[in-house]
Amino acid sequence: MFFCITFGTQEFKSPLKGYEHITTRCLNCNNWRAYCIKDWEWITICFIPILPLSFHPYKEVECQICHFRQDLRDRPDIEAQRQQGPGQIQMTPQAPPAPNMPQYK
Ligand SMILES: [Zn+2]
Repeated sequence: MFFCITFGTQEFKSPLKGYEHITTRCLNCNNWRAYCIKDWEWITICFIPILPLSFHPYKEVECQICHFRQDLRDRPDIEAQRQQGPGQIQMTPQAPPAPNMPQYK
C-alpha cells in the first residue's frame, strides 16, 4: 500500500473589508493600480489548510502591475482615503495619474 502525503503552505488573499473602493498609487512603480488585501498563509497537508502561520491575517497594499507589497500601517494616506469615502479620491500633485487609471463615478 502506498500513501503520498504532501506538505506545503498556501497563501489566501482576499480584498480587505472596508477598503474595497480604494485604489492607490504603488510606491514602487508609481502606477495607480494598488489595492488593499488581506493575506493569510497556512500550512497545508494534502492541499487542506491545517494550521495558520500567523495569528492574524496581514493587511497589505498590493500592486496589480509589479506585485509590490507594503504593510497597510506604512501607508497613512490610505486611511485618509478611506475616511473620505468612495468617489472622493483626490490626486496629489506629486503623483500624476497613470493614463490607464480606472474612472470613478
Ligand atoms: Zn507597482
